[in-house]
Amino acid sequence: MSERTVDVAIVGGGGNGILLACLLADRGLTVRVLERRATIADRPRAFGIHPAALDALDAVGVGDAVRAEALALTDGAFVGIDGRRAAVTFDPRDFPGPVVLGQNRVEELLEQRLHALAPRALQRGVTVTAVTEEGSCVRVSARIGGDTLELSAAIALLVDGTNGRLSETFAGPARLVGPKRWYAMAEAEATTEDQAGSVALIASPGGVVESFPLPGGRRRWVAWRDNDAALDDDQFRMLVHDRTGCSVGIIHGPVSVFAAQSRRRRRLVHGRVVIAGDAATTVSPIGGQGLTIGWGAAQTLADELTRASIHDRIVFRRYSRAVSRVARRAQRRASFFMRLGDPTSPRDWLRRGAVLVLARRAMRRVVYRLVVVRRL
Ligand SMILES: Cc1cc2nc3c(=O)[nH]c(=O)nc-3n(C[C@H](O)[C@H](O)[C@H](O)COP(=O)(O)OP(=O)(O)OC[C@H]3O[C@@H](n4cnc5c(N)ncnc54)[C@H](O)[C@@H]3O)c2cc1C
Repeated sequence: MSERTVDVAIVGGGGNGILLACLLADRGLTVRVLERRATIADRPRAFGIHPAALDALDAVGVGDAVRAEALALTDGAFVGIDGRRAAVTFDPRDFPGPVVLGQNRVEELLEQRLHALAPRALQRGVTVTAVTEEGSCVRVSARIGGDTLELSAAIALLVDGTNGRLSETFAGPARLVGPKRWYAMAEAEATTEDQAGSVALIASPGGVVESFPLPGGRRRWVAWRDNDAALDDDQFRMLVHDRTGCSVGIIHGPVSVFAAQSRRRRRLVHGRVVIAGDAATTVSPIGGQGLTIGWGAAQTLADELTRASIHDRIVFRRYSRAVSRVARRAQRRASFFMRLGDPTSPRDWLRRGAVLVLARRAMRRVVYRLVVVRRL
């Protein structure tokens, strides 16, 4: 057992935990990130990095490295059941678009940056078992293999993800928000039909199919499902083709099926313990804004932590308000897109009407603001 003292202990070294650590180390605080996993998670998750998220990456000096490797999106469209398109073309001056890079690569770049700022801040292979407030500090107990670790910190940040057990212990289960839907997802080689920087959400009687470009000549395909049954490559290809007429290239990795739903926690501050990232608020991946929201909120949290003396009692009012404001907006947007993507028919006047209105040229700015988070 070893006992150490730091300003801020961070439980969870995912995308939000590492970015928070970079922000705080850059401001001169001593941080320790305790992460259960031995390596960065490699399952496909976030890939769309919105302008607001790039601002957060710039704040820790990683933005340019991400831009250098990422693919810039050129345009995005929602295609209604009658073929009508509500589209937006991205341009850096008026309508800057998201860039695309896999979450695992972005986390790798953040981890390298943290290593440069605070070489021993990240400890992998450590499972935190308890976080207890004791007077003016927080005691963090953890397991590393057969050993235990005790850490004392002025503040503990719980960034343990959407199913984080410690966040649940502190704050109870998160409230489910908006619709729940199932989707199948696969990454495949792009075909000659695919347009390199274009995103398309295509409505159909069988449910929406989404197609996103990835760096390295690949595409991610996401298709609405009415259950969580597994699909093999051929079944997935057939499903996309039947709904859209599009051909999916050679699939790499397994076809995954996942449930999407937003969640929100009312109380994020519990004395010296603060909940952040997906543990605080989860935005359904349909809308793809989870990390953007988490990183925006992380900047407010880091500002509040560095403006006050870390040993005072900090209320984190600005942070709590910021999370609530941006999460509500992002979750409303995600719910809108999930409902827009349900199975539809030519007689579904409400959704046809929505696409009809959004397809008008005068609505370009509205479509842009629906799909891109420029500022938080
Ligand atoms: C399919 C999919 C697509 C997505 N697409 C996008 C997108 O395009 N754009 C976007 O912005 N967002 C997207 N998201 C959302 C994004 O992936 C999440 O918002 C982001 O991963 C949340 O990061 P986090 O650090 O809060 O949580 P996580 O990444 O879940 O990290 C939590 C970490 O805490 C660790 N941990 C948990 N408990 C303990 C413990 N007791 N001790 C030590 N460590 C612990 C875990 O091992 C984990 O590494 C997508 C999500 C999914 C599922």
